[in-house]
Amino acid sequence: MVRLQSYVLGGWHEGAAPFRTLIDPSTEEVVAETSTAGIDFAAVLDHARTVGGPALRAMTFAERGALLKAMSKALFAERESLIEVAMTNGGNTRGDAKFDIDGATATLSYYAYLGKKLGDRRVLTDGESEALLPNNARFHGLHLKVPKRGAAIQINAFNFPAWGTFEKAAVSLLAGVPVVTKPATATAWLAYEMTRVLVDADILPAGTFQFIGGSPGDMLSHVQGQDVIAFTGSADTGAKIRGGAGHVAGSAAVNVEADSLNATVLGPDVGRGDDLWHWFVQGIRLEMTQKAGQKCTAVRRILVPAGLVEALVEDLSAELDRVVIGDPREEGVRMGPLSDMSQLRDYREGVAELSGEAVVVYGSPTEVDAKRRVEGKGAFASPVLLRCDDPHEANRVHSREVFGPVATVMAYDGTAGDAACLVARGGGSLVSSIATSDRGFLQELALEAAAWNGRLLLVDKKVHDQVTPHGMVLPSCQHGGPGRAGGGAELGGLRGLDLYLQRSALQGNSGLLKKLFSEA
Ligand code: NAP
Repeated sequence: MVRLQSYVLGGWHEGAAPFRTLIDPSTEEVVAETSTAGIDFAAVLDHARTVGGPALRAMTFAERGALLKAMSKALFAERESLIEVAMTNGGNTRGDAKFDIDGATATLSYYAYLGKKLGDRRVLTDGESEALLPNNARFHGLHLKVPKRGAAIQINAFNFPAWGTFEKAAVSLLAGVPVVTKPATATAWLAYEMTRVLVDADILPAGTFQFIGGSPGDMLSHVQGQDVIAFTGSADTGAKIRGGAGHVAGSAAVNVEADSLNATVLGPDVGRGDDLWHWFVQGIRLEMTQKAGQKCTAVRRILVPAGLVEALVEDLSAELDRVVIGDPREEGVRMGPLSDMSQLRDYREGVAELSGEAVVVYGSPTEVDAKRRVEGKGAFASPVLLRCDDPHEANRVHSREVFGPVATVMAYDGTAGDAACLVARGGGSLVSSIATSDRGFLQELALEAAAWNGRLLLVDKKVHDQVTPHGMVLPSCQHGGPGRAGGGAELGGLRGLDLYLQRSALQGNSGLLKKLFSEA
């Protein structure tokens, strides 16, 4: 069994009892343990602020980009052993593990490229300098964006220990703000191994990247006004973190990425058997079963014109029938278990809650046929498809995120207005997708749905074979959503850096502003 450590204050820290155990969710065998007892969290944040911050700020964007590139390369070189860890502690299939780990290295690489493009500058400007008074060409204003002087405290969910850790780290390191990162404890082993790779490769300047391998202890009570908290997880924990006394008093920036009842909508022009129909059905199967449905961006609500519900249930059921469930080390398995036994309980409770408003039309929350299963053990779950016959009256199908291979199909009346109304019932989502070649419908629905979604995937018959899947997050596009989804925004190319930068309006001599700051 592995004992995880934390990487803090320039060295490895092994916690003390009591230890929390991490399991292999295919077998329930304990595979690792961890504790953060004894860590001085106030000192950890101070180390980031006083050692890591100055080191990063002394580097140009190109140098920070080179650091990210080196991180990406070092992690990629250990890809195979990292995949093993993700399969063991995360229950990931090989494909799921690659999705997470390659997502991490690709995002680092993308931000490395942006750093290289920015070159020898150390700070950014927001727009050009502009005259502030009429008939006066000398007195100008220029908005400058400089790195905050605090620590970037990054707290992640259990489902993407690799991608979650490094998509956040890439952005703040490029911005010039040092990282204190904390994965969810249940699946922390992968993020721990990745940190070990980086420390062993001696890539990280002192204080720029610290890793907390478990409980955050009293860390959040030491937050100060120049720190930034970037949180991903459930809406409940997000609300607690946002309301924490230390950062409210100091007005520290808090970004929350939370639950989301993402929708996918089939346009009224699409018939059963069309290319877009196949894209729609196969895409939903992928969203329900990739990472066993434990993706914040997965499709949870399926909206189809009335009259096509039965056909959709039939064709999607046939697709789901082909998904082989089991221990991801077994040949041919396409969907592994949920990440631990508490997630299995939550999935069962969630399906029971949805069943008050919808009927299960595929699968069962209590029965699953899993390959290479040992004596009924493991957090295996069947895909479950529900049908809700009165989605305007229903509430739970729009508000209860069952974090597993679960989605609900519902009918709308074929108009963009009705579809938009149901999409909005999610209360704010990370992403919705629309499959249609009807331009009027697409425009009306997208303009309305954009207010309720951080991202929209618009798929017509000309592009359906070229798009990335509904749930795939790309570093160049914003990730995050309004309302229930947390109100946060990450990634989006250079937009993502704004969380870690302070904007300051400089007012003064136009010549000096240009000379001293425009290219600083
Ligand atoms: P969670 O229980 O809310 O935990 C998330 C993180 O918060 C974990 O690292 C957890 O640490 C930590 N945490 C819990 N209580 C804390 C506290 N009082 N102070 C500081 N940290 C605390 O969520 P989860 O079960 O890991 O993740 C599943 C949820 O995340 C789903 O609802 C999913 O939709 C959401 N999610 C959202 C996104 C997105 O980008 N919007 C992405 C992925 C997942 P411990 O594990 O040590 O308790």
